[in-house]
Amino acid sequence: MPDDRFIIVLTAPSGAGKTTIAHRVLEERPNLSFSVSATTRDPRPEETDGRDYHFLSVNEFEERINDGDLLEYEQVYDGLYYGTLKSEIAEKSVGGGVLLDIDVKGAINVKKAFGDDALVLFIAPPSVDELERRLSGRGTETDADVETRLNRARMELGMKDEFDAVVVNDDLNKAVEETLSHVDRFVHS
Ligand code: 5GP
Repeated sequence: MPDDRFIIVLTAPSGAGKTTIAHRVLEERPNLSFSVSATTRDPRPEETDGRDYHFLSVNEFEERINDGDLLEYEQVYDGLYYGTLKSEIAEKSVGGGVLLDIDVKGAINVKKAFGDDALVLFIAPPSVDELERRLSGRGTETDADVETRLNRARMELGMKDEFDAVVVNDDLNKAVEETLSHVDRFVHS
């Protein structure tokens, strides 16, 4: 990584609010660009290909794996691939930093690859009950999907001490401020 480039990773259990925090951080810090991940899951109604994700077929995703195009990838939920494209890190970090919004195992792999060049922040929900309320309220997943995500969240919460810092998202504005202060401290260190 050239000296002036840096990587910020936000990781969290699904539903902890990290995508909302990521959008707010990107608005507040124009020198940060979003790393658009590749995935094989279907787009949600409000999502746009190339902006929220690069939506790929399983064949296309597996070709990208075989071509060595992915910095890391996971089958986050049964059968669905999610991964960070090396090209996103290379292109989006020009002149500043790149922000990744990825799952806990992916975040651990990015930390291993980049060490002190990456700041990895774990966004924690106030509680598992609150997480269940948010996931059910979102209305984008079936009950079975919500249960799968909750089980995974319990496992991921157990890994929060692996990261550079933990931000508890019980109040969105406070969580955004806390995230920004971690980012600023890292960038100026
Ligand atoms: P969702 O389907 O709700 O958009 O995302 C499900 C999970 O996959 C979230 O935890 C999200 O952060 C994670 N995810 C998104 N992109 C990537 C990626 O490139 N790599 C990994 N490892 N996880 C990702």
